[in-house]
Amino acid sequence: MAEPVNFECTTPEDTIAFGRSLGRELRAGDLVLLAGPLGAGKTTLTRGIAEGLGVSGRVSSPTFVLARVHPGPVPLVHVDAYRLGGDLAQLDDLDLDTDLEASAVVVEWGEGSADRLSADHLVVRLSREEDDVRRIALEPHGNWTTRTPLLPTR
Ligand code: ADP
Ligand code: MG
Repeated sequence: MAEPVNFECTTPEDTIAFGRSLGRELRAGDLVLLAGPLGAGKTTLTRGIAEGLGVSGRVSSPTFVLARVHPGPVPLVHVDAYRLGGDLAQLDDLDLDTDLEASAVVVEWGEGSADRLSADHLVVRLSREEDDVRRIALEPHGNWTTRTPLLPTR
């Protein structure tokens, strides 16, 4: 097992910058699961991922829409798994305006339900520390373990 990547982001901008670096590494078919409590920064991080992917549209919480598609070179599908009852397989039934295999899929509250979609995924675990400090841990699964050297460390 490679060393787990683990670091702190001290401002929202810092978290967005990390997301941007991660977004630049994402390819079609990738699955990223964001774990962490309400307010941990999952949506904020996704804002950065969207910038890194170069997709269009403002990123906001997917809570009320279940999933939102941001068109781009590699489209971003931003999902709220909590609202899907934890069953990511339901994504296939949503009639999204994109092919999941051709998109990068980022799922808030997705941990534990991923196997229904793909065993190859990256868990990004965010936790709140004091004030604006957020701890971020990257946990690669399946094929992602071989990509660890490409993962941003900040
Ligand atoms: P979640 O989607 O996990 O519920 P959000 O990204 O919607 O979380 O909200 C995170 C909140 O915490 C935002 O209001 C953001 O401005 C604030 N915040 C403070 N510090 C940070 C940080 N270092 N990283 C991300 N968000 C932060
Ligand atoms: Mg959110």
